[in-house]
Amino acid sequence: MNGHPTREEDFDLYALGALEGDEKLAIEQHVASCANCADKLAEARGRIALLALATPQAEPSAAVKQRLMQQVRADAERSAAVPASERAPSRTPQRAPRETARAGGFFSRWWAAVLVPAGAVLAVATILLWTENRQLDRQLAALRAALRENIQEQQQQLQEAREVADMIESRDTVTVALAQQPGMPTGAAHVMYNAKMGMLMYDGEIAPAPAAKSYQLWLVPADGKPISAGVFNPVSGRTDHWMMKLPRGIAAKEFAVSLEPAGGMPQPTGPMVLIGHA
Ligand SMILES: [Zn+2]
Repeated sequence: MNGHPTREEDFDLYALGALEGDEKLAIEQHVASCANCADKLAEARGRIALLALATPQAEPSAAVKQRLMQQVRADAERSAAVPASERAPSRTPQRAPRETARAGGFFSRWWAAVLVPAGAVLAVATILLWTENRQLDRQLAALRAALRENIQEQQQQLQEAREVADMIESRDTVTVALAQQPGMPTGAAHVMYNAKMGMLMYDGEIAPAPAAKSYQLWLVPADGKPISAGVFNPVSGRTDHWMMKLPRGIAAKEFAVSLEPAGGMPQPTGPMVLIGHA
C-alpha cells in the first residue's frame, strides 16, 4: 500500500490489533511517512482506548464489525481454495479412507469448523474488549486506590509533623534526659513528653542489645503501672527516634529503658539501662 488506506476503519482495526500480515505492514509503512494518516491512526488509538475505558457494554463501530466479518469470510474462502490434501491437519493419518472425504462428511464438518468460528469471532472480539475493559477497570481502580493511599499517607505525615511542631512549641511539653545506669550498656537518650496531648518522642543512642534481647522504653506514671512506649533494637552508631501516641492526661514520674527478652514484655522484667526523672 503506497497510497492512503482506502478504508477509514483500517485505522480502527489496526489500533484494535485486528490487522495482520501485509495489511498491518502496509499501514505501518504508510503512517511512517504520512503525517495525515499518522494523525488518523493516533485518533483511532484514542477511540479504541476510550472504548476500552468505557462501560463493558461498549462495542466496536458497525464498520469495524463489518470489516471483521469480511476478513473472517475472506480467510474462510482462502482456506477453502486450498486443496483438501494440504488442508488435512498433520495429525490426521494420511492413510484415512478416501470414502470419508468423497461422501461429503469431511467437507461439511470442515465448513462447520470454519463457519462456527466465523460467527464466534464477534463474540470473541467483544469478550476480548470486555476483558480488556475489566483489566483496565481493575488497573484504574488500583491506581486510584494507590493515589488515595498516597494522599492519605501524605496527609497523615503532615498531620504528624503538625502535631510534633505543636508539641515542641507547647509549654506543657517536658524534656527528660535519660542517663546510663552503672554497669549497663553505653547510651544516652532524651524523651519529650506532653501529657495533655498524649504524645511522646524518643531520641537516643544505645549500644546494640545482646542476642535475644530488646530494649524497651517505659513511661512510669505518678500512679499505676509502667506503660510501654516502644520496643527497639539499636544498630551501632545509629540514633533511634520515634513518636508515640499514648492515652492523654497521664502524669509521668519517670522514663526508663530496660533490657527485655527480644520483642519486649507487657511489664518491665529486665535491668534498667537508662533512667530519667520527669
Ligand atoms: Zn496517508
